[in-house]
Amino acid sequence: MRKQLKTIAIIGGGPSGCALATLLNRKKFKVGVFYLEKRPEIIVGESLVPAIIPMLRELGVEDEVKSYSTYKPGASVWVNKDEEATSPFSYGGGNLPHYAYNVPRKDFDKTIFDLAVREGVQFFPQIAKIEKTGKGDELKLSDETIAGINDFFGGQPDLIVDASGRSRTISRLLDIPTKTGYRKDVALFSHMSGTEKIEPFNIHLHRLEKGWCWRIPLPGRTSVGIVINPEHLKKYGATKEEQFDNYLKSEETLKKFTSAGKRETGVVQYDNYQLISQQLYGSNWVITGDAGGFLDPIFSSGLFLAIKGAFRLSRFIDDGSNPDYKTYQKEQLHELVVWQKLVDTWYSGRLFTLFKVGQDRLDTAFGRFIGPHMQKHLTRIFSGEAVYKPFSRRFLNFVTGSMIDIMKVVGLHKRNIKDLEIK
Ligand SMILES: Cc1cc2nc3c(=O)[nH]c(=O)nc-3n(C[C@H](O)[C@H](O)[C@H](O)COP(=O)(O)OP(=O)(O)OC[C@H]3O[C@@H](n4cnc5c(N)ncnc54)[C@H](O)[C@@H]3O)c2cc1C
Repeated sequence: MRKQLKTIAIIGGGPSGCALATLLNRKKFKVGVFYLEKRPEIIVGESLVPAIIPMLRELGVEDEVKSYSTYKPGASVWVNKDEEATSPFSYGGGNLPHYAYNVPRKDFDKTIFDLAVREGVQFFPQIAKIEKTGKGDELKLSDETIAGINDFFGGQPDLIVDASGRSRTISRLLDIPTKTGYRKDVALFSHMSGTEKIEPFNIHLHRLEKGWCWRIPLPGRTSVGIVINPEHLKKYGATKEEQFDNYLKSEETLKKFTSAGKRETGVVQYDNYQLISQQLYGSNWVITGDAGGFLDPIFSSGLFLAIKGAFRLSRFIDDGSNPDYKTYQKEQLHELVVWQKLVDTWYSGRLFTLFKVGQDRLDTAFGRFIGPHMQKHLTRIFSGEAVYKPFSRRFLNFVTGSMIDIMKVVGLHKRNIKDLEIK
């Protein structure tokens, strides 16, 4: 039997840490959050999915988020520079709102942070240092850290939550085994002005000759990100800025949409992001948000999963007596596995194949029958709903798997379509 929890230290003042702090504070725990005041110039994670909206409403911040964001009614996917398929979220039907937002990330983080402050959570602008106590996998805040917060918890906190994002504080300290994804891409991203206008403000995802890119319309700016194998990038320059700028100038699709644009920020690089810790809890600690795992930028699942993880963890901590972290871990890891399957359909090219097959077959009886179903369930990938609807998952499995295989064998479609995998 674990000790009844009363005091909780959260490492990291990003969206998962702040959302969790608010939820636990509402349950009357004594919560302290360690955060770093200095933030990078720009941060990825600007495209939200409709599935996050109910949680923003429950936190009470949707109106504030709306006030500085672009209203996003759908997602557009480009198979190449001239072939595009748009999925308004309304095509997905279901219970989710038919919209989401593209958010300037600093504003979004501030909203979730300010909410926690307003509701009475205590914040400490310092790095939390943690150490092993020597008793099993038990951890503690260092003496220096405790001194820096004037002994806020009255000794050690009952629970330490790692919400430190890519710093992965606890996983690193304890050398927790990880599962890494098979893609070794890097993402380079920047904010630009003067690029081709995007209206309505859908996220645009482009399959490129090499890699893929996003264009996210923000107020007055477009966020442009390239996701690509680092081997391809080498020939575009020595620095990330040179690589980003030169790739934009030489890649046909990017040239088309960004040639009149100007880079307004530095270029930020992310790599090794497909990383999932295989253990999310120990005797007096638990991990949430990106600190526990992140899949891939495609389909914009990151912030949704980070905040959903916070909601889930707060439900498990509940009144502080005997939280069932084992089940929490199982649910968190299972969710990532399910999303991973969708992510795979992007990189294997199966989604694009489906798009091409769909175009060929729309005028047949089979096409007329299956077309509306495809539209609905494919849209649910972009809204975040596909993962939670078993029928959608099975349907998508079938159409991106067996159905395409059968079509290839019997040669039903007119063109010789090959899977357009992301190189
Ligand atoms: C290339 C790329 C593109 C992405 N695009 C999207 C997208 O379009 N949409 C989307 O929803 N998601 C996207 N994501 C994912 C999204 O950015 C993350 O899922 C999200 O930021 C996770 O939130 P978090 O609170 O868990 O971690 P973070 O946002 O990383 O917050 C963690 C915080 O903890 C702080 N911290 C770290 N260590 C310490 C310490 N020891 N003491 C105190 N503070 C500490 C950090 O400074 C940071 O502020 C993308 C990710 C990548 C890599």
